[in-house]
Amino acid sequence: METTNEQTAVEWFAAQMEQELDINSDKGSWGDIDLMWLFSKLGEEAGEVGGELNAYVHPRNGYNFEPYPGWTERVIRECADVANVAMMIADNVRNLLSTDDLVFDVVESGEGPREVG
Ligand SMILES: [Mg+2]
Repeated sequence: METTNEQTAVEWFAAQMEQELDINSDKGSWGDIDLMWLFSKLGEEAGEVGGELNAYVHPRNGYNFEPYPGWTERVIRECADVANVAMMIADNVRNLLSTDDLVFDVVESGEGPREVG
């Protein structure tokens, strides 16, 4: 199968994500981290991307191509942080759904998920 630009970008970005996970491996697994805490962290990390991007905007001259040495790498790392936190949320939710001893029946009454088994 031919590699598309989309595949290339996704594979490259996945490698950035793995690199960030390796750097933070001392923090351990995310399996027990509260979902809403992770959601808060997602916003915090997105803010860090914004903080880096702000350096790109010059107050008078429009954009700076490279505001300071290493800027592009910092933006990429912060983007990988955002993606990793989103991945953690998705992974934890996926594991909730695959837990054998809980079977959820999503009722249409608007009451939300209900444990049935
Ligand atoms: Mg960060």
